[in-house]
Amino acid sequence: MVKRNINIARLPSAYLFPEIGKRKKMHLEKNPNAKIISLGIGNTTEPITPHIASALKNAAQGLGTVDGYTGYGEEQGMPELRKKISSQVYNGKISPEEVFISDGAKCDIARLQVMFGSNAKIAVQDPSYPVYVDGSIIMGQGGDAVKGQFGNIVYMQCTPENNFFPDLGKIPKTDLIYFCSPNNPTGAVATKEQLTSLVGFARKNASIIIFDAAYSEFISERGLPKTIYEIDGAKEVAIEINSFSKSAGFTGVRLGWSVVPNELKYADGYPVRSDWNRIVTTLFNGASNIAQHGGIAALDDKGLKEIKSLVSYYMENASMIRSALESLGIEAYGGINAPYIWARMTGKNSWDTFERILDKCNVVTTPGSGFGPAGEGFIRFSAFGHHADVREACDRMKRNL
Ligand code: PLP
Repeated sequence: MVKRNINIARLPSAYLFPEIGKRKKMHLEKNPNAKIISLGIGNTTEPITPHIASALKNAAQGLGTVDGYTGYGEEQGMPELRKKISSQVYNGKISPEEVFISDGAKCDIARLQVMFGSNAKIAVQDPSYPVYVDGSIIMGQGGDAVKGQFGNIVYMQCTPENNFFPDLGKIPKTDLIYFCSPNNPTGAVATKEQLTSLVGFARKNASIIIFDAAYSEFISERGLPKTIYEIDGAKEVAIEINSFSKSAGFTGVRLGWSVVPNELKYADGYPVRSDWNRIVTTLFNGASNIAQHGGIAALDDKGLKEIKSLVSYYMENASMIRSALESLGIEAYGGINAPYIWARMTGKNSWDTFERILDKCNVVTTPGSGFGPAGEGFIRFSAFGHHADVREACDRMKRNL
């Protein structure tokens, strides 16, 4: 018999979403006529916009012709898409060869974890998107999450009390620092000053920042950085990952990218980019050619306009949810430059709040405690949903909470 990988055994069982499902089911058994609305999961709901959808369709049809057929492409991605990302997203500050196209940000996070290996010490925002910690535990960096021991993983508390930015003076040196802005789940966006101090901290400690910019298109306020490379000196210390998932509705299509700058070097001077190229060519065979044609269309003028309208649609939801909570006197954060609202009802733990909202309003949310210890007491509302459902959920909360 094969012995189970001990690192996987150290992962807590996938608890959060199955538990939400279980409680939802129990609620429906007690209230069979309840019309439940989910503001829980960060999954997109609106159709892919016409120009981008038509590029996907044409690419798929092209594959059915002798002239249009292509098989494996370059593992790093289509040159045209890499060029477009370089010019449209980074204003040419990042060169196409530093951009690697992927099948999504989550998959790139996993491959980065393979690249840095099991000895890398890591720091994560607390709360944060779970894959930074869970993927690291799979790689063998954790102690035993089931027992609440976190081995080499440093938690950087991000709460309203510190304006959702860690007190870097108290954070020990680690090899990697995961940083997500706009943040899932808190909706907080780091300012230029904050990111400048983060880059300075990484430079001082010779750490590498893995900057998750999956929600950058949701930033609407001027002056807030959409990429870590707006900060001087970031190219020597930061990898950035990004995605078409939330901005273009590609959660199911699957397309993202990572940037590994030429300037980023290991302690011995070896370029990190060369290792990333090795990982991508060894463990990944390139993103779907259909998806990449969609990505190219998403970054031309028409596509960018469509992305803006899709993002605005979800941000109207965010604004409705935040206003509803504020009108009830509930402490609420985010929802201005991010599609998540992070709320706290005093004196209640996350699951109690979850139950209360489900019970009184038939609305499903996500308990903040599922994103890390500092998420306890909070609840996350997702702004992904149809307007009519979100409006109805907000009306119910205003009436019944
Ligand atoms: N990063 C963050 C912060 C996310 O919230 C998500 C998805 O919810 C992802 C990455 C995953 O993105 P992708 O669909 O590109 O794998």
